[in-house]
Parts: sequence; C-alpha cells; structure tokens
Amino acid sequence: MDKDIIEIKNKITDNNFSSREERLEYCNLFLKYSLEENNQDDIAYAYLSLASYYANVVHDTNMLNKYMKKARKYLSNEPSPNLIIYHTLKALNDNTTFDLLSRLDSYLEIIRVADILGVPSKAYFAYGNIAELFRLCQDYETALEYSIETYEKYKSNSENYTNNKVITLTNIVELLNYTNKVDEIPFYIKEIEKLNWNSKVYPILLNICYLRLYSMRHDNENVITTNEKLLDLIRSFPSSKSFKYDCVVIMIEAMMHINAFEEVQKLITFMEETFEVTDINEWLQIQKIKIEYFKETQDEESLKQQYLNYFRAYERVEKEKQATKILGIRAHIEIQDILKHEKKLLVDNKSLKNESMIDVMTQLYNRRYINTFFLNIVNDTSINTLGFAIFDVDYFKEYNDTYGHLMGDQVLVDIANILKSTDNPNIKPCRFGGDEFVCIFTNMTDVEIESYIIGILEKLKKKAIHHSSSKCSNEVTLSIGYGVSNLDKNFNYKNLLENIDTVLYNSKRKGRNTYTKYTNEGDDNEK
Ligand code: GH3
Ligand code: MG
Repeated sequence: MDKDIIEIKNKITDNNFSSREERLEYCNLFLKYSLEENNQDDIAYAYLSLASYYANVVHDTNMLNKYMKKARKYLSNEPSPNLIIYHTLKALNDNTTFDLLSRLDSYLEIIRVADILGVPSKAYFAYGNIAELFRLCQDYETALEYSIETYEKYKSNSENYTNNKVITLTNIVELLNYTNKVDEIPFYIKEIEKLNWNSKVYPILLNICYLRLYSMRHDNENVITTNEKLLDLIRSFPSSKSFKYDCVVIMIEAMMHINAFEEVQKLITFMEETFEVTDINEWLQIQKIKIEYFKETQDEESLKQQYLNYFRAYERVEKEKQATKILGIRAHIEIQDILKHEKKLLVDNKSLKNESMIDVMTQLYNRRYINTFFLNIVNDTSINTLGFAIFDVDYFKEYNDTYGHLMGDQVLVDIANILKSTDNPNIKPCRFGGDEFVCIFTNMTDVEIESYIIGILEKLKKKAIHHSSSKCSNEVTLSIGYGVSNLDKNFNYKNLLENIDTVLYNSKRKGRNTYTKYTNEGDDNEK
C-alpha cells in the first residue's frame, strides 16, 4: 500500500494522464489513501490536486472553491510546497473574479514561502505575475520595471529556466512597445536569440517581438514578411486557441500601424474562419478592428452597419467594464502601498531562508535543501541527468573519542571546504547530517562525477588529517557511493539515494577508504 500511494502521488505530480477521467480517478484514490493514513500533508495535497483538476480541466469555480476550503483546513502557515500550490491556485481563481488585491496577496505569500524553502523559480514566477497586475492596471512603466526585475532574477540564478526567460523577455518587448521605447527592443530580442528553447512556441514569440520592432520603426517590408512567417507558424501550431488568437490580434495591430489594410482584411478573415469566438470581449475586439478597417477604406455602408453592431455589444459590456476599471484603479493605488511595505519584509526574510536551508557549522546546504531542490527541477527541461555521491567519514566515532568533539567538528568543516572548493554550478555539495555529505550533480556523466571524487580524495590526502585510531589508515579517509540517472518519468530521487547508500555500505564492507559506483544492473565497480 505504501508503495502504491507513492506511485499515485508521483503520477499526480507528473500530471501524466491519458484522459481527464483517469486524472480525476487518481486524485480521488490518493485522497482516499491519504485519509486512511491520516497524513496531513498528503490530505492537503490530495485536495489541492482535486482543486487544480476543477480549475484547469473542468473550469468549475464552485468545485474549485470547495476543495480549496478543504485543503486550507490541512494547511498551516508554515512554509511548505503545498502552501505554494494553494496560493498559485488561489491567484488563478482571483484572476477569473478580477480581484487584483487578493491576487497580489497570494503572490507575496508565494514569494515569502519560496524564499524560505529555497525554491527561487516559484518566487520569480510570482514576481512576473506582479508585473502582470500592473499591466492589467495599465501602468505599463511599473509593469516594465517588474518584468525586467523578474528577468534579472532568472538570469542571476545558475539554473536555466529557458522557457520562463523567453516568456518574460517577450513581455518586456510588449511593454517597451506600449511605452514607446523602441530603441531598447533590439537588446531584449538579442537576449531571446541567445536562448535555445526547443519548443514550437519559441519561433512564434521571437517573431512577434520582431513584428513589434519593425512595426514601430515603420519598416513595412519586414512587417509584411514577418507577418507571413507568423501566419505559417500559427497554422501549424497544434493547440491553444487563446494563444493563437492573441497572436493574430498583435499581428493586426502591427498591420494597422503601417496602414497595410489588405493584410488586415486577410487576417480578419483568417481569424473569423479559424476561431470560434465565444467571448464577448474577443468579439468586440474584432468588430473594433473592422471599424478601423472600413474607416480607412472609406466603405461608408459597411462602416455604418459596423458601428451599429458595435454599439449594441458595447452597451452590454460597458457596465461590466466600468466596474472593472474602478476596481483596477483602486487596486493600483493599494498595490503600490502594499509593495513598498513588503519589499522591506522580503529583505528581512533572506536571513530566515539562510538559517533554514544552510548547515550552520559547515555552511553547506542541508538536508532540507536537498528535498526542496527536487521541487525546483520537476519542470526544468534543461536538466537531463541527475547524479549523487554520498561521502561518509571512516571511523569518525573513534576520531571523536580520540581527539574530542571540537576537533571532530573541524574535520567536518575541512571536508566541507574541500567539497565546495570546485567552482562548478552543476555540483551542489550538501551536509546530509552527522558525518555524511551528499553532492548533487546535474547534467554530468558518471566519468565526470568520478573525476570530481578523485579530486576530492586527492585534496583530502594532501590535507593529511592525522587519525591514529582509524582501522584503515592513519589519516582521515572517506567511503563513497555514487551513481547517476536520467531525469525521465520514472526518476525517483529517493530510490536513487537509497541505492547509492547501499553501494556506500559496500565500500565500508570492503574495508573503507574507497568509492563504489551504483549501476542499474546491480553490479558495482570497486576502485
Ligand atoms: P564508519 O566508518 O562505519 O562510518 O564509522 P563511524 O564511526 O564514522 O560511524 P558512523 O558514521 O555511524 O558515526 C558517525 C559519528 O559521527 C557518530 C557521531 O558521534 C559523529 N558525529 C555526528 N555528527 C557530528 C558532529 O556534528 N560533530 C562531531 N564532532 N561528530 C559528529
Ligand atoms: Mg562514518
């Protein structure tokens, strides 16, 4: 049963279902098991996964709220991954009700929790969304500031975050367009081009940025060719009506800007044929474009008809819009105030984060960091392989007994310093606890890991820390287990760590002061 529940949870986390029915079935099953085991975290996670199902698959706000309420009962305000999921869903719900202030609360809470848990990508996501709130309030200057700040944050982190970077850069170009800062656009386009995001969305976003640049420069020839390129890309793009719809609206705007009315006509036809417009605002937008078009082409009769159509629909949505606008203005003022206050709090939070993620004695990451590290990489397509090495000091009890605990502490600090003396962002040394250290290796082969280990052993040998009561040497030595695995659907870091722990004990059994590799086939290679 225990294994079942883990498998079910992994499947929900991976969101790898063949149908919506299957997804619902798994969420309910997970809820049943976690209730039986009375595991608070799992129960909260089960309710959250049901809430996510109703938010993202069924779009049923009532059910979403029902499960959010249930999840809340099992959540404390203690920082946890569940709390991040909770606020992400809450912000999504507030998006549909246009409650900007409540959305802001959720993003600030995500930043707070993510800082403490050490999952920066979630905090960056929240920063990007705060920019979006300002965009909704039509304060493009502030939205631009936040977007640039978000991008700088992604950039300063050693992880890749390619897709998030591209999306943030695209938002920056859009805001530069709205704030008429055409000269700054080429710099950000170059930043996009430096990134290599292997996705069908990538060329579309890049060309949209070029389209904005060319249209602002009135470079008509390039606007037309980029527009054609985009149409081809959009035609062959598999799904997401709303994404394609938004792209075509941008293309029409660019065409209007350079007075290319024939192209506008073509795009309107494409839009009406391709998208089934169900949203009144979308429909209004198309009608507005048509009005501009008939004005420019001086087609009086069509223009009159068009004005009538537009006016009827306009009346219907005007009331709703007015209410939204007032809410937006109020929100804008309050957002500014709250953020001024929160910025101070965020600075104060930094020390809290350090305490909870870093081992005080050795200044290495601690076990908590290792656990949260895996939250961070779930959606990170830039990581292909993950490796670990576990280092355990040989006869350390004897060392303490002979030289005292303080000297023992110094040995642990010395080993920690050796582990972090290699300046490689793909290697993360951590203190697992006691006299055990774990290194996490991203995108490194077993050969590269082995040569890192050999380097560590050489440095330790050079340090020659005397250990008269060791039964395998007269100096401090380490026993090591290591292994590497592809980061595919079947990857489970706890399994890999357990297997490596087993081969570490093979190193101990064989007489210590040695390293052993874990391989899938079960054979281990002693050195
Ligand atoms: P083995 O070769 O089998 O690893 O033998 P060992 O004596 O190292 O055994 P084990 O790894 O089980 O013991 C770890 C010892 O490390 C036990 C504890 O006294 C000591 N230890 C754990 N944390 C600390 C610490 O923070 N400082 C000091 N000085 N000693 C510690
Ligand atoms: Mg030991």
